[in-house]
Amino acid sequence: MGGSKMPNVEDGMSSLSIVNTNIHERLPIEAPLVSSYNDRIRPLLDTVDKLRNLNVMREGIQLPTIVVVGDQSSGKSSVLESLAGISLPRGQGICTRVPLVMRLQSSHSPEPEMWLEFADKRVDTDEEHVAEAISLTTDAIAGSGKGVSDNPLTLHVKKAGVPDLTMVDLPGITRVPVNGQPENIYEQISAMIMEYIKPEESIILNVLSATVDFTTCESIRMSRQVDKTGERTLAVVTKADMAPEGLLQKVTADDVSIGLGYVCVRNRIGEETYEEARREEELLFKTHPLLSMIDDEIVGIPVLAKKLTEIQAVMISRCLPGIVQKINEKMDNSILELNKLPMVMTSTREASRTLMNIIGSTKLSLLRILVQVDFSEFPNDQNMKSTARLADMLGQLTDNLQAQQQPQNVTGEFLIDEIKVLEECKSIRLPNFIPIPAFLALLSQRVDSIQSKPVEFITQTWDYIEGVLLSILTKYSANFPQIQSSVKRAGRNLITKIKEQSVNRVIEIVQMEKLTDYTCSPEYMTACTQKIASQETFINAVLNNTVCNLTSSGFGSFQISHLRKYNVQLLRQAFDMKVRITAYWAIVVRRIVDSLALYLQFSVKHLVNSQFQDEMEAELMNLSGGGGVVEKMLEESPSVSSKREKVEKSIKLLKESKDAVAAIVDQNSGC
Ligand code: GDP
Ligand code: MG
Repeated sequence: MGGSKMPNVEDGMSSLSIVNTNIHERLPIEAPLVSSYNDRIRPLLDTVDKLRNLNVMREGIQLPTIVVVGDQSSGKSSVLESLAGISLPRGQGICTRVPLVMRLQSSHSPEPEMWLEFADKRVDTDEEHVAEAISLTTDAIAGSGKGVSDNPLTLHVKKAGVPDLTMVDLPGITRVPVNGQPENIYEQISAMIMEYIKPEESIILNVLSATVDFTTCESIRMSRQVDKTGERTLAVVTKADMAPEGLLQKVTADDVSIGLGYVCVRNRIGEETYEEARREEELLFKTHPLLSMIDDEIVGIPVLAKKLTEIQAVMISRCLPGIVQKINEKMDNSILELNKLPMVMTSTREASRTLMNIIGSTKLSLLRILVQVDFSEFPNDQNMKSTARLADMLGQLTDNLQAQQQPQNVTGEFLIDEIKVLEECKSIRLPNFIPIPAFLALLSQRVDSIQSKPVEFITQTWDYIEGVLLSILTKYSANFPQIQSSVKRAGRNLITKIKEQSVNRVIEIVQMEKLTDYTCSPEYMTACTQKIASQETFINAVLNNTVCNLTSSGFGSFQISHLRKYNVQLLRQAFDMKVRITAYWAIVVRRIVDSLALYLQFSVKHLVNSQFQDEMEAELMNLSGGGGVVEKMLEESPSVSSKREKVEKSIKLLKESKDAVAAIVDQNSGC
């Protein structure tokens, strides 16, 4: 059991131990084993410190951090003090009110250096004034009351003999607000603690007072929420001097699953100096009848320092590859974001040229999508497969019109429409001629009944094309949010205009059908001949039956009782007319669909080939006086420029971080 627990000249652990500067000054050069260990660890730590300095946390990249948690007055600040060899504000009530990041760095200089950093400010201080300086800056950050704040304060300590460690001290957990504390103090503090201990990269240093039952510690409850198995939790048991009874059992039983183990310590009491405190600690664990039974390996501040340094090193080397990857990802994203930001134009000429380019690119894109059936630009957007979509719409129109090829009259009764028209157009003529006015009247009725469909169709197609055009315009003007709405408005206006023209044209195409009855298609005669053949069957059915089956001539099967009251001559004539109108209507529907199809193709091509460019240029290049678009391109909105600044800053930061990490990763992979 020999050997001193107190690191000193003999055991060669000086660089990890907390010893008084004076003692340290007397130390010889570090033993070779230790220095090689430090040589490996030091660059890793420097890198992480550099990243921390660069504030990569702000980019959402977590760094391996030792987080000190514990219930109030458990001795957190005292432990940190012991590790750093300095005085921190200590005492009753809530003293630590902001996250205090302690960066301990051993140095060879005999003069310790210390300074505080918060919100880009730096306050130099020294051992004598550090406690006071922390209190003052805490007041500056969190107000002079008893409230807490999650804005961190960083304390840099460069001193011979301190371990290379970075730790965060957090306010202690209190259940009951003391006088002057906000009601939700518990929620505030536990949220802050959670934020720090949640990341997988954090090492939780749980400070437990030997005087309490560990199972009732709030800090244990919290750390177990984020680290169930305790694999990243180390416990420090303070105040060993105050409750030596049963301490050995407590730390060996491990009722609260602390994966990284326990270290029992005795901190500075009252006005002791650090070296006195360390000597007292060593003496206590060596000579106390109960405490001396605890294994050397888990007692004393020097052991704690050594353990923390080792755990920190393991954690850092484990985390670095992930950090590299995250830095790369963040950087790629930021560069992408920067590229997406609107560009700044410097001259009217440049702005005009860019605007022309937007129009030109949109035109080419429209050409590919609407005419050339080339969807490589939007491979995953089904809505952009425009030719298919337009064909679908035309198919729908055809189906729609064909469903009306045999429109029933209002009552749904066979032949009633024909009879009605014939009676209205009666004249003094031979009965076996179809009166042309009656036929045209019937045709006209039918045409009117379907007119809304082609109009709907053409409106729908232009609505669709407008959608496509706006998507393309949005894409090509994405870098210029200041003109995007104007460009889109111009596009919308153009389509509205074309839509109006198209609707008029479509109405013409449909109305033309009412003027005369003509087709050169022999199909008409074929259909007529085939259908008229069933005329006698029909007449006989009216005279003898109640149901007539004319499925063979395409009229289906229907009731005929309502036709009994008409004379046979009229029925013949009506049937005759039904035959002709049915045969002809099929031709009419096909002709309308065909014309619409050709017209649509024609007008789309016209739009792409000339109309789009001409009209957009006229509207946007200020020729029609509605512009100001070019001028707008010369301005950068304040929100965009501040965003640009932010992204550029973050890229710079990530680049520096990347370089910092690359250096160390290269070095490590080399060995
Ligand atoms: P914190 O609220 O967790 O930061 O706790 P402090 O570090 O402020 O300590 C609370 C009180 O416990 C102070 O009065 C310390 O002096 C005292 N204390 C801390 N550690 C020890 C120890 O190891 N032994 C004794 N006797 N007192 C201690
Ligand atoms: Mg404290």
